[in-house]
Parts: sequence; structure tokens; C-alpha cells
Amino acid sequence: MPANREKWREITAELEERVTLVAVSKTKPAEDIHELYNLGQRDFGENYVQELVTKKSQLPDDIRWHFIGHLQSNKVKDIIPFVYLIQGVDSLKLLKEIQKQSVKAGIQTQILLQVHIAEEETKFGLDERELEEIREAPDEYTAILFKGLMGMASTTDDQEKVSKEFNHLYSLFEKYKSEAAGNWQLAVLSMGMSGDYGIAVKQGSTMVRIGSLLFGERNYHK
Ligand SMILES: *Cc1c(COP(=O)(O)O)cnc(C)c1O
Repeated sequence: MPANREKWREITAELEERVTLVAVSKTKPAEDIHELYNLGQRDFGENYVQELVTKKSQLPDDIRWHFIGHLQSNKVKDIIPFVYLIQGVDSLKLLKEIQKQSVKAGIQTQILLQVHIAEEETKFGLDERELEEIREAPDEYTAILFKGLMGMASTTDDQEKVSKEFNHLYSLFEKYKSEAAGNWQLAVLSMGMSGDYGIAVKQGSTMVRIGSLLFGERNYHK
């Protein structure tokens, strides 16, 4: 199924200027990405390392690649040379590996810290104590640029609950944003997906990650 260009136009027209659209193209072929690229879309999100590396080699160089899911530490080195933003840094171990590989590569890597806001046990993310720990020692991570926070709400039809979870993340973001210094420069709040981006934007999101609305449902068994 081709990408939904009408939907892309609709979403980009409706989003306020402060909100960046990341088109989540995981499991979708390079030609689908190219369709949206031709309309002007430049930010794309993937969450499988091998798939991302392959697509990167097939598509234009000015695409900004976002790694959006759970990233295994041993795969960090494969994406460090070209990734634009690693969203979803969900453990100290991963943070340390990104630091190490970035030093090796002689670059600074932009990241978002993923905060656990959903009540569900299954969603990855740092708790607030870990977040505070990182905040207290950003100097340990000289090769990392802390760009913001990312979070996923519970998967539920209860809009009030989703709204509350996003609102909580927004307040953390506001607090930590006000403490800017050195490599701690929070400007991005990544929250909202196909099913809940409307609520997320209302709660102060500056970046939405939208997949199925743009590319159709994913089929993991093909
Ligand atoms: C897959 C994925 C998305 C996009 O999900 P849709 O519901 O298809 O919009 C957003 N964020 C993350 C972290 C994802 O893994």
C-alpha cells in the first residue's frame, strides 16, 4: 500500500508550527518513504537498527533519521555515525554506551530521555529518580547533547488518563527545560502517536511520531 499523501497534507496543515512531525516508517519499504520525501517530509523514525541502516543507504542524504524505539546497547555503534536524534534513551547503560561510541566517533549525539509515564509495566523508560540522577551529572556525558524528553502514554480508550499522563510529562519537561546549561538544552518534547497525537499536542507536545495513519497498518508477518 502506498503512503497516504492526503493524510500527510492534512496532518501537516493542522499541526501548529512548534510541532515537528516524525513520520514513522518502520517495516515500510523505501519507496513509501520516498513518496512523503517528495512532498517535503524530512524527519523519519525507525526502530529496528538493521532496517534503518539499510534504508539510510537507499534514500537521500538530507533525511533526518530518528531512532524511536528501544535501542540495544550493542547496536549503538551502527547508527551513531548518521543518526539525527536518538529518542527513547531508557537506561543509564544505554546512555553510557552512546557516550562511549560518540567519543570514539568524535561527535556529539543528540538524544531524548524516555520517561516512564504510563501505568502499564510494559512500556520502557526512566523513572523520575533516574532522570534526576542524570540531571545532576550531565558533565559525565560530554559527547551527548540532551535535547529533550520523550514518553508514551498507556494504550487505552480512556482519554482522560492519556491526557493526565501527557500532562505529567509536560510538567517534567517544563521543569528540566528551565535548568538549561552546557549540554543540557531541553527543547523537544516528543509525545503523541497515530492514536493520541491530538491529545499530546494539546498537552504541549513539540514532536509527534506518526506511523500507521501515514503508511497504513503494519504487517509484521510479511
Ligand atoms: C511505532 C511507533 C510509533 C508510531 O506508532 P503509530 O501508532 O503507528 O503512529 C511511535 N512511537 C514509537 C516509539 C513507536 O515504536
